[in-house]
Amino acid sequence: MNATEFWTNVHNLGFTCTETPAEAPAAYRIKGTTQDITDCAHGHTGLKKTVILATLDTDGTETGIIHLGTDCAAKAMRTTETKVRNTAATADAERAEQTEWARGILDTYGPVEGDKRATAILFFTRNPHMRDQIRASEWVGPQLAKARAILAA
Ligand SMILES: [Zn+2]
Repeated sequence: MNATEFWTNVHNLGFTCTETPAEAPAAYRIKGTTQDITDCAHGHTGLKKTVILATLDTDGTETGIIHLGTDCAAKAMRTTETKVRNTAATADAERAEQTEWARGILDTYGPVEGDKRATAILFFTRNPHMRDQIRASEWVGPQLAKARAILAA
């Protein structure tokens, strides 16, 4: 049973967000907000947006993702809606920054990917101080992978 199925079951059993079923995640981490999913995992539908929450086990390891309305997120995390909104806004801003960086890397090095010579010329033109310190393809390859992972998340 994944987190969404879990919360659907919780909802169907008639629990509310203020109760803590034995199987509830130990904690949550706010990842940001999305307008793509407008249904709260606790059963509220047609919201303007939802808060993206990672469920955490007792070690703080992320075990899954659920979407909740702001009020349900505040109740689940035993905090205020203002705190949820502020934390989510910060996470959204960080995410926007990462996305911009990732698009820049892909725009720059994507077109020469697989061409070591073109990659090296491009990289050392942009980073002349790195010459003799690093192999361009060894830097660019992992950065492209990281950028793709960010955009795929
Ligand atoms: Zn809800």
